[in-house]
Amino acid sequence: MGMDKPFGKSAISVDEARRLITAEIRCVEEEVVSLSDALGRVSAARVKAVVTSPPFDVSAMDGYAVHAADVPSADTVLPLSGVSKAGIPAVPTLAPGTCMRIFTGAPVPTGADAIVIQEDVDADGGWIMFRVKAEAGLYVRRAGLNFNAGAQVVAAGRVLTARDIGLLAAAGHDRIAVRRRPRIAVLSTGDELAADMETGGPGRIFDANRPALIALVRAWGGEPVDLGVAGDDDAAITTALSGLKADLLLVTGGASVGDHDRVRPALQALGLSFNFWKIRMRPGKPLMSGMLGNMPVLGLPGNPVSALVCALLFLEPAICALTGRDAAGPQFEIARLSAPIGKTGERDDYLRAVVTTGDDGLSVAAFPQQDSSMLALLASANALLFRPAGAPPAEAGEPVQIVRFDGIAGF
Ligand code: AMP
Ligand code: MG
Repeated sequence: MGMDKPFGKSAISVDEARRLITAEIRCVEEEVVSLSDALGRVSAARVKAVVTSPPFDVSAMDGYAVHAADVPSADTVLPLSGVSKAGIPAVPTLAPGTCMRIFTGAPVPTGADAIVIQEDVDADGGWIMFRVKAEAGLYVRRAGLNFNAGAQVVAAGRVLTARDIGLLAAAGHDRIAVRRRPRIAVLSTGDELAADMETGGPGRIFDANRPALIALVRAWGGEPVDLGVAGDDDAAITTALSGLKADLLLVTGGASVGDHDRVRPALQALGLSFNFWKIRMRPGKPLMSGMLGNMPVLGLPGNPVSALVCALLFLEPAICALTGRDAAGPQFEIARLSAPIGKTGERDDYLRAVVTTGDDGLSVAAFPQQDSSMLALLASANALLFRPAGAPPAEAGEPVQIVRFDGIAGF
């Protein structure tokens, strides 16, 4: 970390960049939330069951509890000696040589080891005639079938689902320790950017990155801090950042080395220590990573497609690292090219593409135009087609690596 020679370092790979970014990041502290607020939060520690489920042997059906040996064959008749219902406070005892009425979820009486379903008996007052032989263990849910007290029900670093929440409740929890939502500040830079409808006008374009990144921060479990738009001057950038308290700062635009690219010099003046600032991928060459005091900073390219693709590759893992999750990055899958593509240049390519599912698996077609300003194309794509640097031309039918947007929250 703390590499203060941004110009002395050549571009690095995507994996290396992700490793460097996440290595700088420390996990945020935990907080306790009620289960009703736990959906989508990240568990801070592993959670164990407080109770055993079911707490005792229970019936899986409505019927009659018996000692299986007492019903060795069809046409056995036993006297009815009681009833076991769900929710009764104590496990009843079955008198030998009798049967007990029982309902689903009710405790299997001590002395019974089988349930005969009600469809298989004829009841006549206090006498029950069994039309089948009882089988020990049948329709009995053993204590602990679901889980035992002390067993792990949720691992640390898990994004909690409704299934987890149900399990936690069943296991005797009404609250859970989760990671605080990391505060992620988002600043757009550029003299041409209009922050909103009111500031639009001649020579201006609307700021697309900030709304999109704020949405992704939310979707990926962060709490966005909207820093607005700063023009291409050091003072405006410094002002936008004054008094900022965030777990991560995201800046877009102005990260190259043009006269009007003021992000790097402005942040440097504030004490930024560079991690790296060039990356061997398209779209997204001027990706900048560093630390401003304790705060990690991620500088994304200004072109909206680059900004969003870089967010997918680096911001999502950064948020994972902030919340104690595995920061593996996007999942690659294999698809077959539906049309030939040309060779790749000296940077990894993440082409905007459409994936379709056919009888013989996934096929993928990259858009013929790949300009990184074309947000409309990114919006109509459903995947990125990955081509490693230096890849030769590829024929239709060849297997290639893709990243599907489906399944990436919010993307
Ligand atoms: P830059 O990284 O500042 O050189 O910007 C590269 C390109 O992206 C330029 O055409 C900018 O106008 C455009 N751009 C930068 N920031 C944004 C933004 N927040 N929203 C939309 N376009 C942007
Ligand atoms: Mg700019």
